[in-house]
Amino acid sequence: MRINRNKLRNLVPFLPLALFLCSGCDSAKSTHPIESGMLETRALPHVNSDHHYFHEKERPHSAQWSYDGENGPQSWGSLAPEYALAGSGRRQSPIDIHDTLPVNLPLLNFQYQPAKIALVYNGHTIQETEEHGSWLRVGSALFELKQFHFHSPSEHTLDGQQFEMEVHLVHRSESGQIAVVGVFVTEGRANSALDELWNYLPTEKNKRSEYDSTFDATCLLPEDHNYVSYSGSLTTPPCTEGIQWFVLTTPIELSRNQISKFRQILSSDNNRPIQNLYGRQLQRSK
Ligand SMILES: [Zn+2]
Repeated sequence: MRINRNKLRNLVPFLPLALFLCSGCDSAKSTHPIESGMLETRALPHVNSDHHYFHEKERPHSAQWSYDGENGPQSWGSLAPEYALAGSGRRQSPIDIHDTLPVNLPLLNFQYQPAKIALVYNGHTIQETEEHGSWLRVGSALFELKQFHFHSPSEHTLDGQQFEMEVHLVHRSESGQIAVVGVFVTEGRANSALDELWNYLPTEKNKRSEYDSTFDATCLLPEDHNYVSYSGSLTTPPCTEGIQWFVLTTPIELSRNQISKFRQILSSDNNRPIQNLYGRQLQRSK
């Protein structure tokens, strides 16, 4: 697939720093059978993932967006027809997590393993397809980890509390359902597993840096996998709905230096404001 790279360079100046796993859709055709189990009692809508989160089908967007100014979040929905849901959608993310209903939800079974990754500041790049084999199993549903990226400050809030950062681990099932695991980051002890990776953080936009060794995304997870689940959207245009969110309620810790190093790269905060729940019930694992 061909992408006009010059056009891409003009796009979306403030995307989250994205660390793309070197994988593509083709790698989803693995030996793992995808089961048809749903996470909710009703079927999740099929998600059109033809956007920047999944670069193998990436195509240039017609509209620039940002986190502030005239192309900021309040305007996203009117910047381009394909962004309309950002303004009119009623199942948008992020949200404030409160009044959760305790439910016997399935465990999040993370089957992550060390993988080759490339780091890109801007989110728009084409990667080689490479099998990596990190998975998330939730009940009978199986999702492959596609990429992860960071926001600062956090996008979701917990009973009104905002955190220093939030990690988004983006997964997709073979049938195209997207599941994002959100992990809050609070200031505390240094995460030693991130130290080496942090040395590779690209400081220039649109520069892709290959990580020499492998990285195991398990180090981005707390020990406690309790979570809140709801149906929401991507938090960047086109703000596609039908995304299954699992927001872990236990944060991980990064040191002040590690948080600062990430924030210095950003030219602005990269969190979308809290969205209206519109009656959605939030379920909490118990
Ligand atoms: Zn995100």
